[in-house]
Amino acid sequence: MTTQYDALIVGAGPAGCQCARDLSKAGFKVLLIDKAGDVFENNYSSGGAPIDIMEQFSLPDSVVGTYWNTLRIHSTKIESVWTSPSPFGPILDFDKLKTFLAADATKYGCEYRLCTQYQNHQNFSDCVEVYLKDLNNSSIFPVRASVVIDATGSERKVLAKHSYEKQQAVVATGIEYHINVKEEIYKKYSNAMNFFLGHHWMPQGYAWIFPMANPGLKVGVIRYFQNKTYVPYQPSYKIYLNRLLQLCEEFEIVDRHGKTIHYTEKQRDLRVQGRIIAIGDAISSINPLGWEGIRHAMQSGQFAAQSIQDYLSGKSPDLNGYNNSLNKYFGKKWFFSEKFIHHLFRAKKDAYIDQSVAAFSMMDKVQIIQVIFQYKFRHTLKSYFWYYLTRLINMIRNI
Ligand SMILES: Cc1cc2nc3c(=O)[nH]c(=O)nc-3n(C[C@H](O)[C@H](O)[C@H](O)COP(=O)(O)OP(=O)(O)OC[C@H]3O[C@@H](n4cnc5c(N)ncnc54)[C@H](O)[C@@H]3O)c2cc1C
Repeated sequence: MTTQYDALIVGAGPAGCQCARDLSKAGFKVLLIDKAGDVFENNYSSGGAPIDIMEQFSLPDSVVGTYWNTLRIHSTKIESVWTSPSPFGPILDFDKLKTFLAADATKYGCEYRLCTQYQNHQNFSDCVEVYLKDLNNSSIFPVRASVVIDATGSERKVLAKHSYEKQQAVVATGIEYHINVKEEIYKKYSNAMNFFLGHHWMPQGYAWIFPMANPGLKVGVIRYFQNKTYVPYQPSYKIYLNRLLQLCEEFEIVDRHGKTIHYTEKQRDLRVQGRIIAIGDAISSINPLGWEGIRHAMQSGQFAAQSIQDYLSGKSPDLNGYNNSLNKYFGKKWFFSEKFIHHLFRAKKDAYIDQSVAAFSMMDKVQIIQVIFQYKFRHTLKSYFWYYLTRLINMIRNI
């Protein structure tokens, strides 16, 4: 007989796990699946986040690699630094975060299956029948669920499988190395999020060094607008990664990973259709400014869980309340973030990026954190007034 669930969640990333956690706690029968063999298989995320994430999602210290209280933004020629006596946020250990969230869901009765891949589905009037593949033996089996949640990330395997139009997307590929370094190098990068902008570090993108627990560092690069060339760049990411690795002198590589993100401009993704609802990167919840996505993926999972509860308990006739919650949460902030990346990562002259980074230093530590993590771009007005004035003065001088 086909097993029947209240909710089937496809994808055990932060979005799927948080949704499973909330629905299981509310007493629903949940199946959470992922095609990965274990959580380390796609341990691709750097895990940088603001401090609120800990309380917002009741996260324990065990999911944190380390905390950061310094923000450094480097460009080819300039460096701006902000420091606080208390932590600005955690650098999460992505695999430990997912393990914790899934374990919390299973504690409340959620069934959790790895090595299980979504194939396709069929809609019925009272449920959705979903065909899953057990990747251990390639067998296909059906399950039935009242609601299906697409939490497959940028791959968008369930809801948007056929409708997703990649040409409307900002496509970016990130590659990251986990390395162990010597004590003096670790000290240099500990407690700080280091971002590297500019054509030397990564044209059309940025690079980073984030600390993990001693002696680990995460070193990575990401390039925006993968399918277009606004600024000349070397196709090989290795060249840019090596520039960062040189800063780390001697090191041992622990892991290498990467992923391509597809962010739909203006967040036009389909979010709900009948009994199917999509969450996380599958609906472009990731913010394009710095590709901070964990917090927003978990938030969308939480909104979805609330709408599913209302629907399954008969309080609401459909799942559309989810759309309203998301619209309120995103507001215009994601739209302005899109504008900002076009300005910053398509700059033709490297000197403009130097000038931007110099202008950022006019913001105090509260303002810069609010720009990066709360997308409050009004704080940049003073900086950009100064930035355009400097460009104008330089232009006049060169006439
Ligand atoms: C290089 C890089 C660095 C990043 N750094 C940060 C950072 O510092 N801070 C931050 O907040 N965000 C960061 N992000 C973004 C963040 O990791 C993502 O936004 C977040 O993980 C999205 O969560 P999700 O659950 O929606 O999707 P994912 O985490 O991508 O999870 C989707 C899951 O679905 C599974 N899946 C896919 N297809 C199927 C299928 N057919 N059947 C079953 N399972 C399937 C996958 O195996 C995967 O586990 C980074 C992203 C990249 C690429």
